[in-house]
Amino acid sequence: MNYKKTFRFYLALWLAKLSSFALKILKRNATYFPGKVALSICPDFMGRLDKPKTIIGVTGTNGKTTTCNMINDILSQNGFDFINNKYGSNIDGGIATTLISGSTITGKAKKDLAVLELDERSSNKIFPYVTPTYLVCTNLFRDSLMRNAHTEFISNILNKYIPKETIMIENADDIICSHIAEGNKKIYFSIDRLETDTEECRNIIRDGKLCPKCLTPIKYEYVRYHHIGKAYCPNCDYKCPKPDYHITNLDLKNMQMTLKFKDGEEVYDIINDNIINIYNMLAAIVVLKQLKLTQKQINDSFGKLKIVETRYTEESYKNYKIVTQLSKGMNPIACSMAFNYTRNEKGNKAVIVVLDDIHEEAKGMENTSWHYDTDYELLNDESIKQIILPGPRYMDSYIRCLMADIPREKMVHKKDIIEATSELKLDGIDKIFILHDLYAIEQAKQIKQKVKEIIDEYENK
Ligand SMILES: [Zn+2]
Repeated sequence: MNYKKTFRFYLALWLAKLSSFALKILKRNATYFPGKVALSICPDFMGRLDKPKTIIGVTGTNGKTTTCNMINDILSQNGFDFINNKYGSNIDGGIATTLISGSTITGKAKKDLAVLELDERSSNKIFPYVTPTYLVCTNLFRDSLMRNAHTEFISNILNKYIPKETIMIENADDIICSHIAEGNKKIYFSIDRLETDTEECRNIIRDGKLCPKCLTPIKYEYVRYHHIGKAYCPNCDYKCPKPDYHITNLDLKNMQMTLKFKDGEEVYDIINDNIINIYNMLAAIVVLKQLKLTQKQINDSFGKLKIVETRYTEESYKNYKIVTQLSKGMNPIACSMAFNYTRNEKGNKAVIVVLDDIHEEAKGMENTSWHYDTDYELLNDESIKQIILPGPRYMDSYIRCLMADIPREKMVHKKDIIEATSELKLDGIDKIFILHDLYAIEQAKQIKQKVKEIIDEYENK
């Protein structure tokens, strides 16, 4: 559609800029409200605004933020001048705010490049007005039931609204995600079969069980986790596509991986051994290669990167390793992946799980069903010596752990986070994992502090 700049558009733009200016003076967060103002005055505002020539969009259920952070940081380190919503919101108001911040008072784009994290659920409010040059889809999983329903629901929204001109960068190991926007030009990425892959799915949840074309049950050459792996329909041509970029040699011992593509192969250092972060790195590399960055530029920058602290920290404290890891509540896949990572870590572990999905920012929307889609069974392992369950959902987590046959004597369940953590037993423990959700970052910090105090006491005995 051809949008013109009308008086209403200018009014929206100027009031948004004014509100952004005012919020900044008041030192208030100005990453959502200005865009919301513009959209309430002029609903198709983003269509009328001039946008950067190249727009990189990143969407999908898990890994959007980490992938975007990687792209943003590496572009910045290599001198690119661009706009992004790193500190802002990924829904329509946030996207409008980011675009406004990158435009002049006449609505011209100041920069040639934008990197935008896009909430998949907001496609209907963004894609009619913003056409990404490239759109990464990291994966599509079941997410918060109340917000995202199921993968078919999200796939339908994406299919309906993604512009035809957009080049899709999709995860070929995800049979649902790799079939989004059929008909668009596509670039697929993948990680070749790993030793840890299995014949059967070990998780409770595996979405996309039926072929959407002929309704035959989907089969797997191998399963990595949930519906990630090499899937195919035994009855028709529906299957995981052949990748354009794939990791052939994932060497976690030396923390290196080989990327193969049509014109050659390159070696990259791995910054975090969690398979989810390796997928995020891979997606970021594919994007950066489209922007013509070299292997050296990308790899050198990765060497300077860290996973954002609110998502993962690892600290050696006296004789112990303390790990904090975000395990997104209401999102059974992200939570199960965090449990799986914890289980597979070497050494004896104590695990503290603090989930606060009734926090006011979670808008009290969620019911507890997602706990039953989450693989608490993964915590039932010899190497996990103690499980501490504090926080407002302590009873729900406890019941779920009992259903996973975790022995009662291994568990502590108490609402008060400090009281619960006080019962940490360090005998024979090498690592302490604190798994927390988005709304329990503060609690995780307090727990970590308490863990250190307990270590101090124990060591001084
Ligand atoms: Zn089929």
